[in-house]
Amino acid sequence: MTTIKQIAEFLNKELNINNIEDSSCNGLQVENEGEITKIGFAVDACQETFEKAFKAKCNLLVVHHGLIWDSLKHLKGSTYHNIKYLITNNLALYASHLPLDLHEKYGNNVQLANLLQLKDLRAFGFYHDKAIGFSGSTDTTLEKIKKKLQNQGMKTLSLDFGPKEIKKVAIISGGGAKEVYQAVAIGADLYITGEPLHFVHHFAKENNINVIFSGHYETEVWGVKALMPLLQEKFKVKVEFIDVPTIV
Ligand SMILES: [Zn+2]
Repeated sequence: MTTIKQIAEFLNKELNINNIEDSSCNGLQVENEGEITKIGFAVDACQETFEKAFKAKCNLLVVHHGLIWDSLKHLKGSTYHNIKYLITNNLALYASHLPLDLHEKYGNNVQLANLLQLKDLRAFGFYHDKAIGFSGSTDTTLEKIKKKLQNQGMKTLSLDFGPKEIKKVAIISGGGAKEVYQAVAIGADLYITGEPLHFVHHFAKENNINVIFSGHYETEVWGVKALMPLLQEKFKVKVEFIDVPTIV
């Protein structure tokens, strides 16, 4: 019988969660009882995701953005209802935030780099002492990269202020807009991140760099999706991706 403790221990180790400083309380956030037979994978811990996972008969949800962060002080309002729903329905919640951004096999960023077939991958985008993203080399055009992203259902809100020919790309999934200065510092022609920030417009223009905002959600489905075959194979459980996209 597969229990939540076995799966959580395996993921903690595989994702090295104890060695990565993060405002997310990574790991098992809400426990449950009994056997795990089906795992749902999602980007966000939210009511809609929980209800879809319960309907799909999942006993565990593995998410990128969990419910419990350093800032959580009270179980009130929607947070109370979220946690009550999980406990009432015996649905466990496991979260992996930065560990699933930066992981060199399963992480959101390496998956995006692989999608764009970047070569000579290097750790990029430092937060505390850890690199979250990746940079790599290529020989393509901005338009071809946009097409590739669009073909995967990703957003391509773009600031086309750099060269049309792209040799070096830097990537940080999700809310990495502020890190655009690090992309300029390494001489990237293109910086890809999830969510837009206003100041990046003039900064990119004045530093001749292209920036594509591909959606916070769309750049962060990759990590949890990469864990699906891993857990399916290891624990012989059913798996399902619970798709609840956001507008930003
Ligand atoms: Zn995120």
